[in-house]
Amino acid sequence: MRDSRYLPHLTWNEVRDLEKQAGVVVLPIGAIEQHGPHLPTATDALLAEEITKLALERLPKGAKVWRLPVQSYGKSNEHLGFAGTISLRAETLMAVVMDIAVSVAASGFRRLCFVNAHGGNSALLAMMAREIRVTTGLMVFNTFTNAGAPDPIEIPALEAKYGIHANDWETSLMLHLRPDLVQMDKAVREYPQLEGNVGLTGGAAVAAWLTRDWSTTGVFGDATLATPERGAARLEVSVAALAKVLEEISRFEVQQP
Ligand SMILES: [Zn+2]
Repeated sequence: MRDSRYLPHLTWNEVRDLEKQAGVVVLPIGAIEQHGPHLPTATDALLAEEITKLALERLPKGAKVWRLPVQSYGKSNEHLGFAGTISLRAETLMAVVMDIAVSVAASGFRRLCFVNAHGGNSALLAMMAREIRVTTGLMVFNTFTNAGAPDPIEIPALEAKYGIHANDWETSLMLHLRPDLVQMDKAVREYPQLEGNVGLTGGAAVAAWLTRDWSTTGVFGDATLATPERGAARLEVSVAALAKVLEEISRFEVQQP
């Protein structure tokens, strides 16, 4: 079915004639990479695309928010050594997002937002958001698929600290959205052996980690906690938060002093 918020479904004339003064183009971005023994390698690409689509369906009718096809391949070199991981080099992904942004600007849009589902893309997208702002004049925004929404489920402290990949959160979302692609009989619990102030995320110092340094299964977290119900609750807070921030971004104006 034709989706009027999905830009590639429109003709070029329709894209040209969109009211763009307010409005934002959204680029979902994921990864094709190992996600443990129980989840498909497309997990992040699927989540980026699906959560973005659901958030746009949630918007008020007049909101001017349009989405592009998901950028499925990301920067996943932290997972190299695990079969099925298809990673772009940093410079390739930088060029891809810049070229997309230049095209978005040339089509007359004023705002671009990344909706990222893969932590390994985050630093690059944060940097590129500013490069694109400087190069194209677009107002550029960067958010994650949960748009900052906290976990509505109470989780063990270890999961909160180290559950960052193929974990309870991601596995639950997939159990809710694509149960046909989840093999729960193969789900595992694996945490890195780290003590002190050095972390994988958020510590006093952050290690430039490679998955193979810390995990044998490819999992960081406890995938065995996952249920479809936990996934439904997490999807709901994510979609609501993402819809809210995208609507706000669509009206955002830089207030130059
Ligand atoms: Zn993931």
